[in-house]
Amino acid sequence: MELSIDLIKKIALNVYDVVNPLLGTKEASRKFQKGAGGDISMNIDLIAENTIIEALEKYNVNSLLISEELGEKYIGEIEKAKENHAVLIIDPIDGSNNAVRGIPYSSVSIAYAIGDRMNNIRKAVVLNLFTKEIYWAEKGKGAYLNSKQIHVSDFDISQNCFFELSLPKDNIMNKLQKLAPVIEKFYRIRVLGSSALSLCQIASGGMEAFINLRTSNRLVDVAAGILILKEAQGKFFSLNGNEINMALSINTKFPFIASNIKLESFIKKKLITYFYRKM
Ligand SMILES: [Mg+2]
Repeated sequence: MELSIDLIKKIALNVYDVVNPLLGTKEASRKFQKGAGGDISMNIDLIAENTIIEALEKYNVNSLLISEELGEKYIGEIEKAKENHAVLIIDPIDGSNNAVRGIPYSSVSIAYAIGDRMNNIRKAVVLNLFTKEIYWAEKGKGAYLNSKQIHVSDFDISQNCFFELSLPKDNIMNKLQKLAPVIEKFYRIRVLGSSALSLCQIASGGMEAFINLRTSNRLVDVAAGILILKEAQGKFFSLNGNEINMALSINTKFPFIASNIKLESFIKKKLITYFYRKM
């Protein structure tokens, strides 16, 4: 049986209850070995992930779980999970560094798919662990912040557009220089530290675009945010301007561009056809 959006929200709220008191504390930041996603796991990441696993077991969920710290693992009855093609793609804490430093921009991100590709994601929840705000979406039914339906902004490039920029550290000055024709047209740059929440910001009209050139960007960070963005009529595409519909796997990593409707063609023209090919 398919998981309900209410159950997914409930699991996210379980994480909020356990993790929120730890935000900004020393205890949260104790370091452990590298997680499956490649970052060093911190105490707070592992606590959040364990909370999710316990909840899934309590609610008798049968699903493949793809999660940042543990990688891939079946929850419940493997045969049933395989039969129903259920996949949960989870980042227990997206923005862990913000979480341990007490910067209120950190989230738990849960996506639910029936199938094995990104386009098979049907339900998504991103909950801000500081503010308890819940962004959520069901495929074909729109995107919401708490109980209010959300939509991308209608700003075009002549207006005061905010965008987020995430660059790999290698060769950074060179990349910035090449990005100049795009950057100079935007009103403000924000680098906030939780990709999941930033996709939700675009979805709710708080920002206009997110350019993430990091090839190390993981599916678990953005799986839920993508559905929320798309259900809010946002655009999500590769650096070549194509749709991204990769396999649901812990190893899936990709750079991406997200935007509102009006900036899509501007970005594609400036960044992709004109500029990115020369990078
Ligand atoms: Mg994480």
